Amino acid sequence: MVIKDKPSTSVPLPTLERFRQVNYAFPKTEQILEHQRQGGKVFGWLCTYVPEEIMHAAGILPVRVTGYSQEMELEDGNAYMYINNCSFSRSCLQMGLRGEYQFLDGMVAGSTCDGARRLFDLWQYYIKTPFAHMLTIPRKFTEKAHDLYYQQVVQFQEHLEEFLGQQIADEQLRHSIEVFNRARALLRQLYELRKADAPPISGAETMEVLNASFRMPKELFNQWLEKLLAELGRTGNRHQGRARLMVVGSVMNNPEFVKSIEAQGGLMVADELCTSTRYWSDPVVLEEGQSPVAAISRRYLNNFPCARMVPSDERFNRILNLVKDFKVDGVISQIIRYCVPYAHDLPLLRDRLKEVGVPVLALDVEYGTSGSGQIQTRVQAFLEMLEARKR
Ligand code: SF4
Repeated sequence: MVIKDKPSTSVPLPTLERFRQVNYAFPKTEQILEHQRQGGKVFGWLCTYVPEEIMHAAGILPVRVTGYSQEMELEDGNAYMYINNCSFSRSCLQMGLRGEYQFLDGMVAGSTCDGARRLFDLWQYYIKTPFAHMLTIPRKFTEKAHDLYYQQVVQFQEHLEEFLGQQIADEQLRHSIEVFNRARALLRQLYELRKADAPPISGAETMEVLNASFRMPKELFNQWLEKLLAELGRTGNRHQGRARLMVVGSVMNNPEFVKSIEAQGGLMVADELCTSTRYWSDPVVLEEGQSPVAAISRRYLNNFPCARMVPSDERFNRILNLVKDFKVDGVISQIIRYCVPYAHDLPLLRDRLKEVGVPVLALDVEYGTSGSGQIQTRVQAFLEMLEARKR
């Protein structure tokens, strides 16, 4: 329901500020440095098909490797990587080449797409973290694909055990599953609040929480998110907009991009990104008598799918469910140039959304864009069109 001319109310949320501080200091956050001071190892991971619980169970702090939080000249990234690789992969590479991730003890990636694969190859060759591992990720959800992915996760665990000189026990894996499922449940609670006509948290604020979720120890993140949920319950914050929007597409984790859309009156109430809903949506379900590794691998391959997965219907159906559940008026698709998986899916997704009467604004972007100039003009026109449809 579009609510017009009612100002949003927003009192400060102390815990949100703490999440912002983590993101501001990233990659060298106090939590990461403290973990290393305590003798712990920190591993970088590149894609949501990398099973974090395996690293966590070994006492490692897994952090997500992301690029610059704003659009940057990528002279070093471009020098080592063909320009027709997405700017996300080139931005990450440049940060690596300039030593911003020097503290990492390991790097783990998935064979998601050409950009991610090339990034991993160059990272291994030029940045040389002590441990490096690439998981082969099938593109299907068949039992054969699950068998392949299960073998990949087992190989990853064995390689890690060899590197660390220690076994990862099932008990430790069960505990890590609990910790990560708790984070997923708390993030689901946070998203439930966004279904309200006037949610207590904006899309940009939510993205600050999401960014911190893969940049700090999960146990501490869970404690903070419990606090934030309590604060949100106490404050009367009400975010209102001219239209309820959902963002889909390539990897995007810049709150400024969402803020620029919300500054024009579009309220971001849902999203389908590998840095948001697709990161937390599915819990690991450990069946009676099932090995934790089998449960972990099944969850990661069946999780809310990336556009690289086939058939695409699984992803489209989940997006349509989010549109219905969050009462979305319009979808903003933001695709990084040369991001083949998402560019390929867009025309098909647009048709599925058209069938349910939901318009799509398709934006070609670079990673880190904050959404200025031409993007703002197009968002403005999109919001006017959505409002006109309501009259
Ligand atoms: S943005 Fe697209 S091309 Fe780049 S790593 Fe992600 S899926 Fe691959």
